[in-house]
Amino acid sequence: MDTRNIDVSAQHADVAVADAPLLRIEAVSKKFGSFLAVDRLSLDIKAGEFFALLGPSGCGKTTLLRILAGFETPDEGRILLGGSDIAPVLPHERPVNMMFQNYALFPHLSVRENIAFGLKRAGMARAAIDTRVAEMVALVKLEGMEKRKPDQLSGGQKQRVALARSLARRPRVLLLDEPLAALDKKLRESTQQELMELQRRLGMTFIVVTHDQEEAMTMASRIGVMNAGRLEQVATPRDLYEAPASRWVAEFVGDVNLFDGDVTSHEHFRLVVATRDGGNIVVVEPRQVVTKSQVSVAIRPEKVKMSRRGSTPDAAGSQAINRLEGVVTDVSYLGGSTVYKIQLDTGAVVRSSVANTTRLDTDACSAGQRVVAWFSPDDCLVLER
Ligand code: ATP
Repeated sequence: MDTRNIDVSAQHADVAVADAPLLRIEAVSKKFGSFLAVDRLSLDIKAGEFFALLGPSGCGKTTLLRILAGFETPDEGRILLGGSDIAPVLPHERPVNMMFQNYALFPHLSVRENIAFGLKRAGMARAAIDTRVAEMVALVKLEGMEKRKPDQLSGGQKQRVALARSLARRPRVLLLDEPLAALDKKLRESTQQELMELQRRLGMTFIVVTHDQEEAMTMASRIGVMNAGRLEQVATPRDLYEAPASRWVAEFVGDVNLFDGDVTSHEHFRLVVATRDGGNIVVVEPRQVVTKSQVSVAIRPEKVKMSRRGSTPDAAGSQAINRLEGVVTDVSYLGGSTVYKIQLDTGAVVRSSVANTTRLDTDACSAGQRVVAWFSPDDCLVLER
């Protein structure tokens, strides 16, 4: 195939057809020996999206990114960019650039030379390189450090050089593999904001790989959750958390209480689930039809309210449809919230997360106290097992 016909220019219009995805991953698979790292994965990404691939270690995130960058060849499937198959396009000719987890800066080259590297290789004229490098240095706020070598920079500054280098050729898609993993928590948070601001300003498509859920939720407009080479769910951060598509996603994203049980009745838009520990949980009927009678009820800890048995707030609990009693067995103070582990009288354990809205919480529960926990049918989610 003649690759000269493939549009690899960032300056050209992204897609001919409105609303067509910029990037289409079509049933892509990749095996290493007999191990299937990416399993018939399909995904559409729109121009200008900030997309995050989230998943446990070894689920195939980096492999997928490397396939997009052209460093790995898929065994099956196609990748279309702006409607064209990019299989024949060499990595350095793809309008897709990758920022590596370890930054992969050249230690013997200065900041300026690191940023200019890809431009030189692409045959850009010297004056144009100078202008572009200056633009990139300003973009990532590294003015005055152009002559320094990587070992004269802090972790955050190295990250910026790597970012500037990967943006210098103005790729249509920037792939970022764990871009903030090497930074400490505070720097990571401020760099997240800077990346988001940069992405918005440039209007570029970013695909970031991370195993940090908060990072994915903060930065991305959509998240694809990967498990064993497949996408379990692709959704907005809110939908992923509030409406996980499977028990696996519910458990992987955030903390969740799960009660396994059987649907015993179904009326007036409510289901009653008899749980294994002998209780009943009332849930609102999910939008999707529950076809199996064996289900799991998922309820996030912050939706489980609790109070000491017999205390005033218990009045609210006594009216609740889903009301459970038990003993606090563990208290984890996390600053903004406290997580209580409650051993229910039925034998099940439920976690309740309570926001610490006042400095002196005289009502706080301690281990060994008897408590009432309650939650609304609207806050429960029914997931098939
Ligand atoms: P992490 O978050 O730990 O970086 P990941 O989701 O990015 O994990 P990948 O690096 O994509 O995972 O690896 C997916 C699987 O494929 C892993 O089991 C890994 O050991 C295997 N793998 C990756 N590259 C190769 C390779 N070149 N040869 C053999 N196996 C590989």
